[in-house]
Amino acid sequence: RIVMKFGGTSVANLERIRHVASLVAEEAKEGNEVAVVVSAMSGETNRLVALVDALDADSNQGTAIEDEYDSIVASGEQVTSGLLAIALRRRGLRARSWLGWQIPLRTDMAHSKARIAEIESSAIGPSMKAGNIAVVAGFQGVNEEGRISTLGRGGSDTSAVALAVALKADRCDIYTDVDGIYTTDPRIAKDARRLNRIAFEEMLELASLGAKVLQTRSVELAMNNNLPIRVLTSMAEVGDPNPGTLVCHEDETMEERVVSGVAYSRDESQITLLRLKDKPGMVAKVCKAMADANVIVDMIVQGISKSDSAANLTFTVGKRDLDKALAALEAAKQSIGFEAVKSDSDVTKVSVVGIGMRSHTGVAQTMFEALAERNINVKVIATSEIKISVLIDAEYTELAVRALHSAFELD
Ligand code: ADP
Ligand code: MG
Repeated sequence: RIVMKFGGTSVANLERIRHVASLVAEEAKEGNEVAVVVSAMSGETNRLVALVDALDADSNQGTAIEDEYDSIVASGEQVTSGLLAIALRRRGLRARSWLGWQIPLRTDMAHSKARIAEIESSAIGPSMKAGNIAVVAGFQGVNEEGRISTLGRGGSDTSAVALAVALKADRCDIYTDVDGIYTTDPRIAKDARRLNRIAFEEMLELASLGAKVLQTRSVELAMNNNLPIRVLTSMAEVGDPNPGTLVCHEDETMEERVVSGVAYSRDESQITLLRLKDKPGMVAKVCKAMADANVIVDMIVQGISKSDSAANLTFTVGKRDLDKALAALEAAKQSIGFEAVKSDSDVTKVSVVGIGMRSHTGVAQTMFEALAERNINVKVIATSEIKISVLIDAEYTELAVRALHSAFELD
């Protein structure tokens, strides 16, 4: 029993959908029970989001529109699941489409970024056993009130992994427009290299630091359930070699390497509070103001206090949260106690990731030397056991990614 997932470019038009049907047919022919998870045709979700945004811009009644947003943007997957089911039947196979509510794939109530609570397998399982290929609309589910919910951008990856776990599948294959996980985004560094294997922990960091090839939550789920994910290209013909990348638990067969990859995220904004009072508890007050506004604070750096007991505090939030964050800070200005606030959205976070960093020193030095050689100024730094991230001017994104990729000899 296997789960195959196809992203937007893999189902971009009828020709691609017919090709996907041929890849699915091959797996079925080999005797596998197959569930296929599909995204919307590429560009479709963006088009739907833009429609909602355009209507929303006319009013300030955001919340009235919220519970309809999911129902609108989930429609793209309904189309592709139906089309692929037909394409499979045209090949003489038995197939049917499944929408989130038909399975049902139950989620919590979070608008536009729901988490999966449970997947019922009592209908889809027997249907597959009886010889039907299950073609599942990714990205969508049904919430506690019976309304359609969506899992956030890239959510079909998570649909696929969660379904594989629920169906006790032997494999979860994520087909996309690249032939595996690379040392960095191959769109930015032409000499990026495909990895044969990568550890869950590394993939989790890369994904959460901006590598959009897998949704972070899908990696988390796979890791917690010890389900290896194979990432491979949907562009290959049936029978072509397609080794892809195996995302799995770390083991001795993995290449000996300190850094495995470089990731970047443009979804960052920098906020600086000028002359924040230097007293215990000030940072906690700022963090509370952000938490109350439902804004996640990422990197934080506190300046050194001068003799007059005030220092600047800099932190980052997601681009979409900037306005909300600034409004909350303005409202709490008196109670927190700072002079002014500055913000900048032309920033990018660039990170190097590798489980080898646990046992090797010198990574930070190599990183900062490579950036300094290109005159790239580092605004904020954050580290963990297996990653180092820096915030830089957005205009240096490509330069920094390529510089770090070559400094760590990833090509
Ligand atoms: P899909 O529509 O199939 O879900 P995505 O666009 O979400 O595909 O993800 C694939 C893209 O991820 C690739 O085209 C590539 O540009 C990007 N990407 C970013 N980082 C990496 C990486 N380290 N390895 C491979 N692809 C990456
Ligand atoms: Mg994706």
